[in-house]
Amino acid sequence: MNLDKIFLDQGSGGRSSRELIEKLFIPKFKNSYLNELNDSAVFELGGAKLALTTDSFVVDPIFFPGGDIGSLAVCGTVNDLAMRGARPCYLSAGFIIEEGFLIKDLEQILFSMEKIAREADIQIVTGDTKVVPKGAADKIFINTSGIGLVPLHIDIAGQNAKPGDAVLISGNIGDHGMTILSSREGLFLDSLLKSDVSPLNHMVQKMLKTGSEIHVLRDPTRGGLATTLNEIAFQSQVGIEVFQEAIPIHESVLAASEILGLDPLNMANEGKLVAVLPEIYAETVLAAMKETSYGSGAALIGWVKAENPGKVIMKTAIGGKRLIDMPAGEQLPRIC
Ligand code: MG
Repeated sequence: MNLDKIFLDQGSGGRSSRELIEKLFIPKFKNSYLNELNDSAVFELGGAKLALTTDSFVVDPIFFPGGDIGSLAVCGTVNDLAMRGARPCYLSAGFIIEEGFLIKDLEQILFSMEKIAREADIQIVTGDTKVVPKGAADKIFINTSGIGLVPLHIDIAGQNAKPGDAVLISGNIGDHGMTILSSREGLFLDSLLKSDVSPLNHMVQKMLKTGSEIHVLRDPTRGGLATTLNEIAFQSQVGIEVFQEAIPIHESVLAASEILGLDPLNMANEGKLVAVLPEIYAETVLAAMKETSYGSGAALIGWVKAENPGKVIMKTAIGGKRLIDMPAGEQLPRIC
């Protein structure tokens, strides 16, 4: 990896991002929480178990079918808390705004943030605003941080997958990535296609309420399902085998991916989760997911294996096997 300057693909969420974090950030900041590289850090403080996470949003365009940079900024952080089994409680929001940005656009973004925060049952309790000269930033960037409460008995983390576990996905993959791509490039694919941006904390609570043991939860955002499965396989040192035919994909995402030569497995999602859990709980948890509006398309897509630790293998529709790697480069910058 070239460390003289930053390249665009180091923000992709895939392999290059990972290398940047491991070579530059971890050696400087190393501690047991950060080193785990999970969606949130989970720690005990004053007798409570808390989850803390942060995320920055630079999506372009800022308004897109299904959402905007505001809804994305709230959902992204709510979901990263939920992926540790936390009940999200409070959020901070920091805004970097370019001089000349329209007040009516800012109002619309704030309206979206408030609406999603209400749905997710969290409050935005602190924030910051900075305005930079025209050209010093593009329109608006938002950072959100969140804190949530984790029940003491819950331990959901990327390193907990075990051979024999089932792998579930909560619905269609690639909707967000393809929506951003088509609105940016002016492709009119399908008027029904929209971003899946949504808060997943209530679905996670329903899954936990079944009393089932859940080993891993992760939202396949930047880098898509391929990246998320590879991260879990690596962190848990297990193999993961998925079935191509079982992975739900909206037909227009599939068609557009074929035309554009893109792989939906690498495309970002903003309202989906991957769950890894013992086989005996798979049916119960899947049923609980399907009862929720954001999990109605949930499916069992594969199994965790002892063989091929660190690797993800897809059984194709025609009976072949394909190694699913993390996307190496940047498929689409400013996706979230
Ligand atoms: Mg995440």
